[in-house]
Amino acid sequence: MHRSGATMAWNVFKFCTALRGLGSIMILLVLGVVGATYYAVVLTNYGPALYAGGLDSLVALAVLILFHSLLVMLLWSYFSVVFTDPGSVPPNWKPTIDEERGEADPLVGTEFSNLPSDPNPRVRYCRKCNQLKPPRCHHCSVCGRCVLKMDHHCVWVVNCVGALNYKYFLLFLFYTFLETTLVTASLLPHFIAFFSDGEIPGTPGSLATTFLAFVLNLAFALSVLGFLIMHISLVAANTTTIEAYEKKTTPKWRYDLGRRKNFEQVFGMDKKYWFIPAYSDEDIRKMPALQGLDYPSKPDFDSQ
Ligand SMILES: [Zn+2]
Ligand SMILES: [Zn+2]
Repeated sequence: MHRSGATMAWNVFKFCTALRGLGSIMILLVLGVVGATYYAVVLTNYGPALYAGGLDSLVALAVLILFHSLLVMLLWSYFSVVFTDPGSVPPNWKPTIDEERGEADPLVGTEFSNLPSDPNPRVRYCRKCNQLKPPRCHHCSVCGRCVLKMDHHCVWVVNCVGALNYKYFLLFLFYTFLETTLVTASLLPHFIAFFSDGEIPGTPGSLATTFLAFVLNLAFALSVLGFLIMHISLVAANTTTIEAYEKKTTPKWRYDLGRRKNFEQVFGMDKKYWFIPAYSDEDIRKMPALQGLDYPSKPDFDSQ
């Protein structure tokens, strides 16, 4: 028993190390896909079409403006997820103690001792970090530390997705979906041309890149759409991916404050900031949830 436990821990450790090593490669892969797509859309097809004259020029101009705007938003969101600390537990963090109900007892509760659906969650303790865990906080074995409101560890961004960068991650999904859909639609006529009998203009290299860019962007558009739909339903219910796995059969969820408030807890209350990977200073000051340490429960939760 002990042996197999140790072996498994070792395997998990090796797996996590491999994931960390994968890090920079994934960023290069993302930039590679962006580069190939840029070459196919801008340099090979729609850049030259600008000089075609008439309607073709107008369509090319519209595609190029939209393509570049979405690309700026996509890369801005992407690097915001990569470089933003998802949220670490402040040193010596202590819960606001509710002594009457005796909720704060650091000796009870280990990493798995209570589910978030527990009506009286006790304070959890992380043995690996040797510190108390705030509500909704989880230990990430890839990062090797506790992450506030951890959603999942994302290999594409080489970072954990947690309280402080979840919005940026959602915007990255959103802009990636729009950009890959635009690319798929704008390259579709060129893709269809491959299967026609006529001669297609272009060097073998540019034709191959167009073909590859179309297939890659179509694949990304479809898979990102699936993720986007999943995360929209998670935001609407104020649940993280981890909590969605954990709660399984719980009909009620203590943090679900209604769609509007759940949305604001992730995106902030200032509409000007909803579509950019940033928050207004006022939102950060006014909303403890944006700092990842304090999440209000449903007002009627404890009485039920
Ligand atoms: Zn930990
Ligand atoms: Zn992580």
